[in-house]
Amino acid sequence: MATSVAAKTDFITLAHPAPVADETRVQWLENPGFGTLFTDHMIMIDWTEGEGWHNATLGPRRPIELDPAAAVLHYAQEIFEGMKAYRHPDGSTALFRPEANAKRFNVSARRMAMPELPEELFLEAVRLLVDKDSAWIPDMEGASLYLRPFMFASEVFLGVRPAKRYKFIVIASPAGNYFKSGTPAVSIWVSSDYTRAAPGGTGAAKCGGNYAASLVPQAEAIERGHDQVVFLDAAERKWIEELGGMNLFFVFDDRRVLTPALTGTILPGITRDSLITLLREEGLTVEEGRYSLEQWREDATTGKLVECFACGTAAVVTAVGKVAGHDGDFTIGTGGPGQLTQKMKNRLTGIQRGQLPDTHGWVTKL
Ligand code: PMP
Repeated sequence: MATSVAAKTDFITLAHPAPVADETRVQWLENPGFGTLFTDHMIMIDWTEGEGWHNATLGPRRPIELDPAAAVLHYAQEIFEGMKAYRHPDGSTALFRPEANAKRFNVSARRMAMPELPEELFLEAVRLLVDKDSAWIPDMEGASLYLRPFMFASEVFLGVRPAKRYKFIVIASPAGNYFKSGTPAVSIWVSSDYTRAAPGGTGAAKCGGNYAASLVPQAEAIERGHDQVVFLDAAERKWIEELGGMNLFFVFDDRRVLTPALTGTILPGITRDSLITLLREEGLTVEEGRYSLEQWREDATTGKLVECFACGTAAVVTAVGKVAGHDGDFTIGTGGPGQLTQKMKNRLTGIQRGQLPDTHGWVTKL
C-alpha cells in the first residue's frame, strides 16, 4: 500500500527562543560593518553516505556541537558561498543570480570531494531563511543582508579520505559597506612572497583553506598601509590574478577592458561575469586574458591604463587607486574612482536594488 511520507528534505521549522537583544542591533546601526551581526535563524541540512540529504530544518541560530575529531577540523573539507538579499523600493525582497551561487557551490563541492547539494534545495534554503529574517534587511543606502551558505565534513574520523557525513548551513548577516565608508579608492599591495593558488590546486573553488592561506599576505598589505593584497600567478610570479576576495578589471584609453581569464587558479566571480555583460552593453571591448605586473606599471605610468577596479559580492565595485610592491608604487589615473568604475557600480547596484530594469533575468524576487 502506498503511503505518503514527507520528503527527507522537507523543511521542519524549529521553535524560536528570545530574539537577539535590540541593543545589539542599535549598536550595529550606529556603526554598520560587515560580518559582525547575525540574524535570528539558520538553515541546517545533514548528509550521510547512503542516506543523502535529510533532516532539513529552519530554526533559531545557535552554536553547533562538533566532536573534536570532526574531519573538517583536521583536513579542512569546507566550502562556502557569499550572496546578498536586497530590499527593493516597492518593499519586496530580491536575490541577485542565486542560481549562479548554487552552481558554483557544487563546483566547489566536486573539487573538495564533497557531496553536491541539489540546486533547488540550495535555493529553497536561501529563500526560506531570507523570508523568515526579512525584517533584518537594512534599509540604509548601500546596505543588504549578506547570506553565507556553507558545508563542512562533520564525520568523527581521523584519516585522509572524503568524509561520510556533512552539514550544510545557511546563516545571514546584515551588511553595511565592506570597506570603511568614504573609501573612494583602495590601495593594494602586490604579494611577491606568497601566492594564493597554483595550477591544479583549489583556486577556483570557494573553500576555506584558500582564505586561510591569504591571511598572512593580507596582513602584510595592512601592515604596509594598504587595503588589500593582489596575488600573482604561482608558476611565473608575473601575471595578475585577483585580490584576496575580489576579481580585477583594467580599463584602457581605447575603450578596451581586460580581466584575468578563468584559468582554474582564480575564483569565477558572479560580479565579474555580470560586469563583463554590462561593459559589453556599454559598447566596450572586454577581453579575458593575461596581464603582467610589469605591463600594469607601464600602462599606469604612460596613462594608457585609465582606470582599474575590483569587484565582488561583498565589496561590489571598488576603484583601485594605488598599487605598491617591492619594486615601488604607482597610481592609476587620478588615484580616485574613474567615470567608468562609477558608472558600472551604479548600473550593477541599480539592477540589484530594483532601481534599474533587470533586462537579464538576474533578479529573483521572493
Ligand atoms: N575572488 C575571490 C577569491 C572571492 O572570495 C570572491 C568573493 N566571492 C570573488 C573573487 C568575487 O566573487 P563574487 O563576485 O561571486 O562575489
